Parts: sequence; C-alpha cells; structure tokens
Amino acid sequence: MKIVRRKSRTVSAGTLGIGGDNPIRVQSMTNTSTADAAGTLDQIRRLAALGAELVRVSVPDDASADALPEIVSGSPVPLAADIHFRADLALRALDSGVAKLRLNPGNMTRRADVLEIAHRAGSLGVPIRVGINSGSIPADLRKSMGGVTPESMWAAARRHLDILEEAGFPDIVLSMKASDPLLTVDAVTLAAAGCDYPLHIGVTEAGPPLTASARSAVAASLLLAAGIGDTIRVSISGPPEQEVPVAWEILSSLGLRRGRPRIVSCPTCARTRIDVAGLAGEVAGLLSGMQGDFTVAVMGCEVNGPGEAGEADLAVIGTPAGVVLFSGGVRLTGEVPPEELGKILREGIESLATRRGGSS
Ligand code: SF4
Repeated sequence: MKIVRRKSRTVSAGTLGIGGDNPIRVQSMTNTSTADAAGTLDQIRRLAALGAELVRVSVPDDASADALPEIVSGSPVPLAADIHFRADLALRALDSGVAKLRLNPGNMTRRADVLEIAHRAGSLGVPIRVGINSGSIPADLRKSMGGVTPESMWAAARRHLDILEEAGFPDIVLSMKASDPLLTVDAVTLAAAGCDYPLHIGVTEAGPPLTASARSAVAASLLLAAGIGDTIRVSISGPPEQEVPVAWEILSSLGLRRGRPRIVSCPTCARTRIDVAGLAGEVAGLLSGMQGDFTVAVMGCEVNGPGEAGEADLAVIGTPAGVVLFSGGVRLTGEVPPEELGKILREGIESLATRRGGSS
C-alpha cells in the first residue's frame, strides 16, 4: 500500500519542521506539575530519550509560568506551552522562549486576546496550534449544527482560524480531537479538505493504556493511510512515557517512519519450547528508546521460526536442540545455555544498534 501524504504548509517549532515534507512528528505531554521545573525536565528528558520530538507542558497558573524559562533552557527538544483561559499566560510562555503554543478556542474566546497573542507569536516566529476538542464546541454551534459533529467541530476551528488569518498569522497547526475515534477521523478529514495547515492528530481522553493504544491506532491509521497527519500524540491515562513507543509503533507499522527497531514475536502455542513472552519483554526493554533500522524476532519453535529468522536481523528460536540464534537466516550459534541468553541477546542488539543507526 502506498500512502500519499496530503500537501500541507511547513511551520517551524524552533528547529523542528512540522508539515510539508517533514517526517510525521511524534509528540507527548508531561503530567508533572510544571511549577516543579526539575521534575518536569526529568520527564521531558525521558520522553525525548524515548523518541518524543516535541513535548507539550501545561501552563495552568503563574507558578507554572515562573518555571518555564528554566524548563525551556534545559529541554533537549522544543517545547509547546498548553494554554487555557488566560491570555496573559500565553504571553508569558512566549516570553519564556517556548517553540509553540497550543490554544483551545473553546476557552480563549476574546478576539482581542487572540489577536494580541498572534501578534506576539508572529513577531517571535512561534507557531500556534488551534486545538479543537469535542468537549468544548461553542453552544451556538452545537445548537445550530446538530450537537457535536464533524461539521460543528470544523466550524469551531474555522472561527478561530478566521481570527488568526485576519491577523495575518500564517504559522498555524490544527488539531480536531474527540474520544470517539470515528468522530475524530471525520472531523480531521473535513479539516484536511478545508485548509493546508499541518494537522496534529490524536484521540483525546482515549482511556487507559490498552484502550488508548487501540483507539489511537484505529483513528491514526485511518487518517494516516489517507495521507492525513503531520504530527501525532497518543494520549494515555497513565505515565506519558507509555505514549511515545505506541506512536512510533503506529508510524513504523504504516511505513511512515523508520529508524526505530522492530520486534517480531510469536503468540506461542503447544509447540512453544522457550519463554517467548518473557524473552520478548526482555527484548522490548532492550530496544526501548534505541535508534536503528533492524528487526529482532523471538519465536517459540522451529515451525515458523526459520521463516521469520530469515527476515530478522537477530532471531531467538526454540528448537529441539535448545535455544539458538539466527541472523538473516544464518544460524549464528549452537544451543545457548539459558544463563547466557540475556547477555548474548544484549550484545547482539547493541551491535546491531551500532551498525544500523546508533542508540539513544
Ligand atoms: S512459532 Fe511455533 S511456538 Fe510460536 S506460535 Fe508458531 S508454531 Fe507455536
């Protein structure tokens, strides 16, 4: 399947290009108190190490705004400030050097405020994401357009876009999110047809990890396969460190991003000769945050093992002779004693990461 990406304009969040021919960017968001600069920076560094290219931090109050300069200067990736209700906090965030703003038109309703923010952001070259959530569609639009629908979400977006466009502000990113994946898809599809702004995609309030991963994959895949989406966040009720690998997995499964290792492992059955789940978990832990274009397989027996091993750069397979390692279909070892398997795997993966793109 060939995915042809929608043509969007390019904006820059600091050094990070978004939209146009740039890769689809992976984002996440901290859940620490932003007023705790050290704790927030720790989480930002963990997210960046896992592959987040842009991290959003909430700025709900003055104490958070006070901490922003320290967070911005210590962050290894560009930061977006998430602002609701208070225009003064958006202005303070801009003064602190954030690379991007996210405004919610549902609660940043005063036209004069939006114009002032746009003017300041424009003079600093900072893009603004207009983030529409299904939960904050203006009452008049809900009333006149049949409730929360793709059309009322797009109309809410258009109102805010109109203000920014009248102000001559070009560096806009747009998101349209709902907790219902199909409503999200329909709303974003409308937006994609109606503007050339880069689109940030994701499902909001998506639930705990399993539910959120499935819902996000459904919505993102439908959109991305249609060529729609320039940045992505997988929202999870839980540690945000869980979000980034899911986003990468979605993009890599669609062939839209490379450079992260892939794991292949069988579901196991009565033929299983090794602890596939345990080993696959160990391999996933070793691969977490690593860069490199390679595949590691863990297969329970010799039935499908050699076939998968032929495609994998490193494969662990249970055979009648015990656990053996393959690389590109070539048997690397005889039976590996269980106590040595972890060490041999680790060395094999580190060697692959060095040869195929390094590790982070
Ligand atoms: S690879 Fe072997 S153990 Fe794993 S599911 Fe297939 S037949 Fe079963």
